[in-house]
This record gives sequence, C-alpha cells and structure tokens, in this order.
Amino acid sequence: MKVAMFYGPGDVRLEERDIPEIEADEVLVRIRAALTCGTDIKTYRRGHALVPPPSPFGHEYAGDVVAVGERVERVTEGMRIVAANSAPCGHCFYCKRGRESLCENLFFVWGAFAEYIVVPGRIVQKNLLEVPEHVTYEEAALTEPLACVIHGVEASNIQMGDTVVINGAGPIGLFFTALVKQKGARVIQTDLVEERLSVAEQLGADHIINAQEGEEATIHNVKALTEGRGADIAIEAVGYPKIWETTIKMTRKGGTATLFGGCEKNTTITVDTTSLHYNEITMKGVFHHTPHYIRTALNLLSWGSLDTQVFITEKMPLSRIDETLKKVMAQKGVKIALIP
Ligand SMILES: [Zn+2]
Ligand SMILES: [Zn+2]
Repeated sequence: MKVAMFYGPGDVRLEERDIPEIEADEVLVRIRAALTCGTDIKTYRRGHALVPPPSPFGHEYAGDVVAVGERVERVTEGMRIVAANSAPCGHCFYCKRGRESLCENLFFVWGAFAEYIVVPGRIVQKNLLEVPEHVTYEEAALTEPLACVIHGVEASNIQMGDTVVINGAGPIGLFFTALVKQKGARVIQTDLVEERLSVAEQLGADHIINAQEGEEATIHNVKALTEGRGADIAIEAVGYPKIWETTIKMTRKGGTATLFGGCEKNTTITVDTTSLHYNEITMKGVFHHTPHYIRTALNLLSWGSLDTQVFITEKMPLSRIDETLKKVMAQKGVKIALIP
C-alpha cells in the first residue's frame, strides 16, 4: 500500500509498505478520502511535537472496513465508517470527571494519508461510527474537526442575540462561523485574506473585517460594531499568541474569550491584569473533542446542517500530496480531499 511519510519540515515521501495485520480488537480500513487540516499543515511547515519523524500523518479520514478483529463487536466488513484520531480511556481522573478531552491516556493515530489504516481497539469501541448512505466519504471525514469546533462553541456558552467575533477564517474559523450563526448570534469575522473573508460571508458572517490594518484598527472596528463595548464572545481560531492577546482585548466586560487555536510550544501571552480583573473577562482554553461531540458532528453532517461544499474545495489524488500541502499552506482553498 501507499503511505505518505513525514520526514521533517517540507519533506513528505510517498512510500510502499505492506498492508498491516490487525490485532483481535482492531479494524482495518481502506481509506476513501482524507482531508488536509491545520495540524497537518503546521507539521509540514515546522514539525509537530506529536508527530516525531519519520511518521505517517494525516488524521481526518473515512473509508470502508476491510478486515475486523475477532473480538470486535458491531463492526462488519464492507461498512462505511469514519473514525476519530483518538479516544479517551474512560477510567482516568479526567474521564471520570467527564472531561474526556483532558484524558491522561490520550494517544493520537496518524496515517490518514495512506491507502489503509489500522484503527486501534479503543477507537473502534468509542469513536468509530457508521456513515449514513447519503453522506459522502469526504463529508464524513469532516467529523473530527467539526467535533472540535462543536466543543469550542458549546464551551463558549453562546446565547441567542449575542455578538461573536471570530478571529481567523481558516477551516476551523469557518466552522465556527457556520455553527455560531445556527446559535442565533451575530458574527463578526476577521482575517487577513480577502478570499477567506468572502467564504465567511457566504456562510452567513454578518460583518467582515480585514485585519491587514493592524491590531488597533481591528479592535476599534469590532468595538464600533458593538456600541464601544467589544464582543460578548471573542474566539481565536488561528493559533498565534499575538491573536490570543487581540482576542482578549476585543472581549466586552463580563464576556468570554475562547482561545481555541493551538500555539507553538513554549510561547506565552501578556494580559493586562487591570482589565482582566475589573472587566471580569473569562479566558477559556478549549482543546480537542469527546465521543459525544464526535457523534454530534456526524449527526449535523448527516442532517445537512452544514454546506460541506464550502469546506471541501478540491479533490486530489494521494500521489500529489506534496503539491496539495503546499497549496493549502499558501491558503488556496479551505480543505482539500486526498483520494488514495
Ligand atoms: Zn484536524
Ligand atoms: Zn482518560
């Protein structure tokens, strides 16, 4: 089988490997579609602590079950499935407290940019779902990133009639836009790229702000749209410390700043203590997903709650993975589906 291997920043090679054997609790999946994601692009650009090279990579996929371990229940050969890249253990301190995204025994599966993938036992049990007939493989592969964003939306506690500013109109920011609109809130979308802002508009963003003018002007523009207060909820969907700070500064008194984008390791932010204290701002970190959000995500996709065509802008054969990653890195399109 063909597998894309990450050897270091800018170095991805398509290699020929044996199709792996499975253990009794595992499932072998023939991948039909895998999607590019910000995490993969970060890995490709600068490496990733969780992807030590050489390593297979890519983690958003859907496909067909081609082999089932003898101890696996409810999964059958030929089933169209989507599986998450991880699953919580269910028995650690955090799992027991219902904070499964903080599970102490979380492990991540990479290797969606390949023809086959082995789904480990724990994921088979907790985060492998059958894909309804009318949902395509590409659409189903949106389950994992969408689940993360649903987590972010729910953690932000958005009320009808709120004004929500979303900083960043990459795939994650755009998912936020689509979902926050469904929560009955007004969306202000900021980004540096005009093309992405117009996609946000297409998804229902009420106001768009090109942040090219700089931080001061962007904050000023957000305040101008909220009678000088700032947004009820401000969301960071980029993963840069500077934008985390900007996001906090855009939040109104008593509001919430949702810090969603993962920044590079060992980076820090500066927060004005006076404003944090007297303005009673809540700063919220949000990470990853839970089995509940994975199910919610597939349901939303199945019910047609999202215009999936906006998110999957192109299909490419797996053999052109290098070109695909470069294209996404240059911010051309939203997500690209790699078809092995
Ligand atoms: Zn992802
Ligand atoms: Zn756990």
